[in-house]
Amino acid sequence: MTDAPKYGFETLQIHAGARPDPATGARQTPIYQTTAYVFRDAEHAAALFNLQEVGYIYSRLTNPTVAVLQERVATLEGGAGAVCCASGHAAQIMALFPLMQPGCNVVVSTRLYGGSVTQFSQTIKRFGWEAHFVDVDDTDAVAAAVDDKTRAIFCESIANPGGHIADLRALADIADDAGIPLIVDNTTASPYLCRPIEHGATLVVHSMTKYLTGNGTVTGGCVVDSGKFDWSASDKFPSLSQPEEAYHGLKFHETFGPLAFTFHGIAIGLRDLGMTLNPQAAHYTLMGIETLSLRMERHVENAKRVAEWLEQHDRVSAVTYAGLKSSPYYDRVAKYCPKGASGLFTVQLKGGYDACVKFVDSLELFSHVANLGDTRSLVIHSASTTHRQLSAEQLKAADAGPDVVRISIGTENADDIIADLDQALNKAG
Ligand SMILES: *Cc1c(COP(=O)(O)O)cnc(C)c1O
Repeated sequence: MTDAPKYGFETLQIHAGARPDPATGARQTPIYQTTAYVFRDAEHAAALFNLQEVGYIYSRLTNPTVAVLQERVATLEGGAGAVCCASGHAAQIMALFPLMQPGCNVVVSTRLYGGSVTQFSQTIKRFGWEAHFVDVDDTDAVAAAVDDKTRAIFCESIANPGGHIADLRALADIADDAGIPLIVDNTTASPYLCRPIEHGATLVVHSMTKYLTGNGTVTGGCVVDSGKFDWSASDKFPSLSQPEEAYHGLKFHETFGPLAFTFHGIAIGLRDLGMTLNPQAAHYTLMGIETLSLRMERHVENAKRVAEWLEQHDRVSAVTYAGLKSSPYYDRVAKYCPKGASGLFTVQLKGGYDACVKFVDSLELFSHVANLGDTRSLVIHSASTTHRQLSAEQLKAADAGPDVVRISIGTENADDIIADLDQALNKAG
């Protein structure tokens, strides 16, 4: 499909990046289950390896099925290009890798998926990188945390698990003033509900494992680049602005312009880190994305009804859903995700830790799993599972205290979801 922008989201989620297969006319995107691609001749091969011509060499770098998915997600996010990779966590490393050097840091929200807190507070230290954690609602603290070694600000648009909504515009302004990119993890919102690039984000990362695929069949990730950042404006981003030895002194920004970050992600990131998405997984994700808007509408409708019902329940002390009028983030929903606040939130039970465990064990329709964004309703007790590695202070900051359960509302019949929650709450005591 060419001139994509004239189509609406619901059309693009089905068509962007795809065209009938040139070899067979196959209407659905084929799974190109191949490792390598035959070169026309030695000259063609040399041009591909020198990045003088764009084409397929080896599936660690590029694959036609994955390429359709990359174009589709980039289009839905309003970006210039995207690089898919093996998981959401891989996407976070792939986003930071071109920006960082040993001794550099990233300013990171305290309200993140537990695995991301661990990745940023522990694992990235091994690369000589550091994370400065701040409450991103305190914009003065964010600005104060940025120093001359900071190379990015990182937050989630709708935070997992608490459903807090980041003030993307305010954070983008701080990033702009510092000459660094804002990176937004848009996993919980999906591009149907929130498009961070429109609010000033430079890079958007996804765990495609969640709403994009939408049915719990795939582990995948993606980094989308807005194409708008001037990597050559300062000496902060030499990987993108300075000569690259591995490609005979090629400068990515000068050569590829708005696609510099995307080409770097493929030609250096996937080539050398090897966190490649396989074509089979790309196919499942493409199938999922075709129904993204339909699923998100239903997730939002169900979540709103269930959250309103839970808020009235006498065994419940708090519900964090940002789509509730009682939420301090209600106004930000209107600004950043006007179609709704997704299907993920936490519930605080009056009975504390023991009631949470009994509640989770008593649910029948809900599955007790470490996943979210599935058509199925899912539940987890974050403090004893996904956020287990966090300290008491980190748990509190991430809204994952011992008396809190995380709920991902599926697309089932809302009455059935409520009935299941009701019987489990009654058993939890
Ligand atoms: C799950 C998740 C991740 C990590 O993604 P994986 O695909 O599991 O690696 C990152 N961010 C958020 C918000 C998530 O929910």
